[in-house]
Amino acid sequence: MSSILVLVEHRQGAIRDVTFEMLTAARKLAAPAGGKVEAVLFGDGCDAMLPGLQSQADRVVYAAGPAFKDFNYESYQKALVKLVAERKPSAVLIANSAFGTDLGPSLAVALNAGLVSDAVAFTKADSGFSVSRGMYAGKLVADWSVGSEPAVIMVRQSNFKPEPASLSGEVVRWEAGDVVSGGKTKFLSLEEVPTTGIDITKATIVVGIGRGIKEAKNMPLVQEFAKEIGAVLAASRPVVDAGWLPKEVQVGSSGKTIKPKLYIALGISGAFQHIAGMKGADTIIAVNKDPKAPIFSVAHYGIVDDLHKVIPVLRTKIKELAS
Ligand SMILES: Cc1cc2nc3c(=O)[nH]c(=O)nc-3n(C[C@H](O)[C@H](O)[C@H](O)COP(=O)(O)OP(=O)(O)OC[C@H]3O[C@@H](n4cnc5c(N)ncnc54)[C@H](O)[C@@H]3O)c2cc1C
Repeated sequence: MSSILVLVEHRQGAIRDVTFEMLTAARKLAAPAGGKVEAVLFGDGCDAMLPGLQSQADRVVYAAGPAFKDFNYESYQKALVKLVAERKPSAVLIANSAFGTDLGPSLAVALNAGLVSDAVAFTKADSGFSVSRGMYAGKLVADWSVGSEPAVIMVRQSNFKPEPASLSGEVVRWEAGDVVSGGKTKFLSLEEVPTTGIDITKATIVVGIGRGIKEAKNMPLVQEFAKEIGAVLAASRPVVDAGWLPKEVQVGSSGKTIKPKLYIALGISGAFQHIAGMKGADTIIAVNKDPKAPIFSVAHYGIVDDLHKVIPVLRTKIKELAS
């Protein structure tokens, strides 16, 4: 194996968590095969990001300039094609994010490389890579064989746990040159969707509520419970569709993937689209009055009963233990 290039994703001056997840995965992939990890940073005035990347990669390739002030898939794609031709990596890792989805497929076409999106695991094969990805909204995991090198692998966010490292990668200042000028795509502005500021992907304890909550008037019960145990509230899709909680807290294949230390599922049946987003939690506790609910197949602990009866008992017990 030669090297693994990891495209640094950043926004508004901050490196996004998925970058460190990818760098961790890349180190694990490269180390046994004697390969190196190279973080690729495209940006304008992003020098402050370098130390954080140097500790995580063997080399940081930094292309600075106005062409990279904002994300533009065209400039990124052209620069990456040039960089790949020079460095000849075995694989290019890109986040399976909104940015990555814009960039990955056209990059693979331009490189005549194999592409796997939404990757959740990958290993080096004799020739190319073996890559696992979710299919049918997470109902099954399919193993793909990518024969090309480089392979373009789009990595699912919040799937790999970022780990600290103490490398001291050299910084290579790199010029993309003319290839990034004259593109057809222009960045106009970044329009942020108003948010509540709750980031369920960062929470340690998450209480997920489902249709079993029945009515909006029952929300205070779970809200108080979550507050008492220091959890953030998340939801299955029907709860979001009903407008009881915002879309940004939806867990699942069309919502967010989370990996908290503890996930408490209240009145959630465990449809595969939901499980796809929370099965990576360290501990899962499910409360459901139906003993056959599929959520129990992924739960470490289960309580078969009415959540309206269970929550008050849990609150009392937790208070007793806390005192
Ligand atoms: C393309 C697509 C994408 C989707 N994406 C997502 C997604 O990202 N996230 C997601 O969650 N869903 C998603 N869905 C929807 C998914 O298929 C399910 O419909 C949904 O997850 C069900 O939500 P639920 O478990 O809250 O509701 P239900 O399936 O209706 O389950 C409610 C559960 O509550 C239990 N219950 C009822 N009353 C009580 C009570 N008093 N006490 C205890 N338990 C009780 C019931 O036994 C039942 O198991 C998607 C669907 C499609 C087609």
